Amino acid sequence: MTDQFEQASKLEELARREAIKNQQRNKENPLIIDGKRHCLDCEDEILPLRVKSVNAVRCIGCQVHHEALERHQRS
Ligand SMILES: [Zn+2]
Repeated sequence: MTDQFEQASKLEELARREAIKNQQRNKENPLIIDGKRHCLDCEDEILPLRVKSVNAVRCIGCQVHHEALERHQRS
C-alpha cells in the first residue's frame, strides 16, 4: 500500500508543477465536445485526470509540441 501512496504523491507533485506552469501561461479557452474536454490541436479527448489536476486544454503529446513551439517563438 505504501508504494501506491508514494506513487500518488509523486503524481500530485508533478501535477502541481504543471498547474503552476499553466497559470503563468496565457489562458486559452478549452474545447468542449459533448461535455468532455478535447485537445485544442488534435481534438482527442483529454484524460479527465489531466483536466482536473492541471486544467489541461491539450493532450499530452500536443502540449509538449505546443510548448516546444512557444519556446521557439520566444527565442
Ligand atoms: Zn492533442
